[in-house]
Amino acid sequence: MTIPFFPDDLFEADRQAFLDLLYEVGTDEEQKFILGRRTAQLERETAAAARVEHAVACSSGTGGLNLAVQAVGVGPGDEVIVPAFCCQPVASSVANRGATPVFADVDPHTMVMDPASTEELITERTRALMPAHVFSIMADMPAMNKIGRAHGLTVIEDAAVAQGAVLDGTPSGAWGDLGVFSYFQVKAFGTAGEGGMVVTDDAELARRVRMLRNHGQDGVNRFLHHDIGQNSRFDEILAAFQLHRAAGFADRLERRARIADYYTERFAPLADRGLVAPPAGRNGRCYYVYSLLVERREDLRAWLTEKQIGSHIYYPVPLPLQPAFAKYAPEGADWPRARQVSARNLAIPIWPHLGDAQVEFIADSVCEFFD
Ligand SMILES: *Cc1c(COP(=O)(O)O)cnc(C)c1O
Repeated sequence: MTIPFFPDDLFEADRQAFLDLLYEVGTDEEQKFILGRRTAQLERETAAAARVEHAVACSSGTGGLNLAVQAVGVGPGDEVIVPAFCCQPVASSVANRGATPVFADVDPHTMVMDPASTEELITERTRALMPAHVFSIMADMPAMNKIGRAHGLTVIEDAAVAQGAVLDGTPSGAWGDLGVFSYFQVKAFGTAGEGGMVVTDDAELARRVRMLRNHGQDGVNRFLHHDIGQNSRFDEILAAFQLHRAAGFADRLERRARIADYYTERFAPLADRGLVAPPAGRNGRCYYVYSLLVERREDLRAWLTEKQIGSHIYYPVPLPLQPAFAKYAPEGADWPRARQVSARNLAIPIWPHLGDAQVEFIADSVCEFFD
């Protein structure tokens, strides 16, 4: 039994639907392949599901963060606090505006941006906070919003991996002033291509994001550019495919959560033997990825490889230690917990279409390693 970490059959069950939609959009009389009625419908459905007023589809999660940062008006001289252990767009979206990403350390267990480390870094230049949900766990949004309010900062919620997750009754994406989802194929609501969504309750921010995603145009007056924007438009075929896939989304999330429940129960006894599993439960969990923290990570990885179980190491180098962001890493600063989780995280498969026998085999294999 070979279990890849990145399966090659993620969309297999939707193959015929995809081909039908490709034909439908391709032969549609209106010949509109971007930002058409299907995109508009996906925006309405996404806003309703996230319980926000506005959703604006864009070219990717990265594109969404770029738009959010620009819409907020972040520019040269401004600072935005981002997690030191994360996907690089949290930092590049800020640096690309000529502003400074300021790296906060993360929680050593949940791996999300740590509120105390965040608050310490606030200066008079700070404009925004950008907490990100990571792997299985939503960021501490109540704490982030509290810090944001206390200091008059905008909160940009990187919910790229956590569409569909709910914390204390509020969906991910709806916590921040702006939230961003990603449709990159392996994300919770991934697709067969690139895409993303910016969500917000703020009508003015939504208007700005909508304008910026299409070269600063207002959608009515072609070639009238109100602002210097970007090309971050969304594809009609993928909008149609996401509308189709939305029907099974809740079930896929539930299946992921059940696999996670099972893993977490199986791994609980290993806590004192060098394996830390994500915290149990459903509140504020997303299970896009199931990441263990393991002291003997390379050995466990080799053991799983031997058993033909794929695994994956995310972000082996924290952002401020990357060559690209060296100039934003203050002399003498350190992010010990980001370094630690970079050195210890190991993700095991959690795809919704994994069978029970496969899930059991993966859990057995991990447990055997510690016996
Ligand atoms: C994937 C991801 C992004 C970027 O999304 P893309 O659609 O790949 O551009 C941003 N932030 C986090 C935390 C992510 O995991």
